[in-house]
Amino acid sequence: MADRRWPEDWAERKAGRNCPLCRALGQGDNDFGVAVFTGDSAEVRLARRSRLPGYCIVVWRHGHVAEPADLDPGQACQYWQEVLAAGRAVQVVFQPVKLNYLTLGNGVPHLHTHVVPRYPDDPAAGGPLAWEDIDSPEPVPDADLHRQAAGLRARLPD
Ligand SMILES: [Zn+2]
Repeated sequence: MADRRWPEDWAERKAGRNCPLCRALGQGDNDFGVAVFTGDSAEVRLARRSRLPGYCIVVWRHGHVAEPADLDPGQACQYWQEVLAAGRAVQVVFQPVKLNYLTLGNGVPHLHTHVVPRYPDDPAAGGPLAWEDIDSPEPVPDADLHRQAAGLRARLPD
């Protein structure tokens, strides 16, 4: 059975110690994904290893914040506007049958939102997808990813 306890260093992680998302801010493409867009409050990356074309994460970019409720109302509004702008771009470019927005942070507690497109051949239609159905061991070829990222970028604000 899986170990379901929170890690020993959870409080430190939540406070931002050794946060991988803080480290990745402003660094462009990385092992997780290709940089699509930097907005006023968030960075958007298109995942390299996903079964779902268009799967992006939107990451809060002004320092370490674990909980969206810790943003002030103006920051929160701006963050969600950018999450929705990313979702709108994914809708237009990839035409999924549904989009799911997951703001979890149970592994990496830095505010980020997974924008998960759902497709007609979806293995979990009508319910949430398991991570195994989102992630892929094989990366999407770089040229395809960069073409897709450019398509998304063209539908996001300058
Ligand atoms: Zn962080």
